[in-house]
Amino acid sequence: MSADFQHREVITLPARYGKAVRLNRGEAVQVINLYGTQVVDCWAYNAQDISEYMSMEATRVWNQRLNPKVGDSFITSQRHPILTLVADTSPGVHDTFMAACDARRYELLGCKTFHRNCHDNLFEGMRELGVELPHGNLASFNIFMNIQVQPDGITLKTLPVVTRPGDYIVLRAEMDCFVVFSACPQDIVSIQGQGDNTPRDAELRILTAGFPAVPLKGAWVPD
Ligand SMILES: [Zn+2]
Repeated sequence: MSADFQHREVITLPARYGKAVRLNRGEAVQVINLYGTQVVDCWAYNAQDISEYMSMEATRVWNQRLNPKVGDSFITSQRHPILTLVADTSPGVHDTFMAACDARRYELLGCKTFHRNCHDNLFEGMRELGVELPHGNLASFNIFMNIQVQPDGITLKTLPVVTRPGDYIVLRAEMDCFVVFSACPQDIVSIQGQGDNTPRDAELRILTAGFPAVPLKGAWVPD
């Protein structure tokens, strides 16, 4: 299926760093887990008004799910769809609960010197596109991150990624938007897969055509 995707740009997302892309409505971005081990944090903003941003809490209401499946959309702080998950070759294990890592998180984990982190990568990625964010956002969509709800229904367990090398997701833009990605620098808590907990590169492809034409769903309302 991937071979049919037409792309206009291929971007390496270097381990521990962030990159932002600008998508036109109807384009998509493919996020490829090259080594199958990497967690990739993601944020999105309306390109016309960056005060409108992708909201994990609004997304969970819209889809009535803890984590998105193919066909589910990501919803903004103004309750508009901004991205739709149109393909996912991974086992479908992602996370919408956990805060992005930031400098303070690494201090709390015992780091005595600066540790690269997803939250600073958010600002750096947008700055590369000439956009200065007025404030941060710890509520990222954590692609490939493996957070399990335990049988008691309330306890969360942080586990390593279960993705295979080359697994990918495709996110379609439902409005002109900036999408920011961070190859999570976390190397203290065991979240990167397959043992060594080492952050690795991922790849981004901006797709113009050839990805699945998944219909856009409306908001959930009670029966
Ligand atoms: Zn992180």
